[in-house]
Amino acid sequence: MEEGAQVLMPGWGLRRESAKHKDEAAARVRLVHAVRARDAWTCQARDKVPEVHCDGPLDVHEVIPRSAWREGYLVIDNCILVCRAHHNWVGDNPDEAHDRGLHGYSWERPDQTDEHSKEQP
Ligand SMILES: [Zn+2]
Repeated sequence: MEEGAQVLMPGWGLRRESAKHKDEAAARVRLVHAVRARDAWTCQARDKVPEVHCDGPLDVHEVIPRSAWREGYLVIDNCILVCRAHHNWVGDNPDEAHDRGLHGYSWERPDQTDEHSKEQP
């Protein structure tokens, strides 16, 4: 063993991803495939927001965004397939999107396991 030897293999030593991070990345890839299959490669906002015409590639959209629910991007029930045009509309109109079931708030998380969770009225 040459523990002091300098290793200069390209790419090695630059990756600092934790095992957990890799697990999450793999889980996200599986989720994206599952969402595309479940939603049959169609924009799930098309009928809910008919005034916006579908355009652009289909993205996986988190109903409750990652900023409000970190683990939600790995929960399939929180993820839907939407086109870029509708994705942008949701981002620009969160209140209206909420009324149409396309956007959620942190307190609407289905899994409130942290100790700070509150009872809903
Ligand atoms: Zn669309």
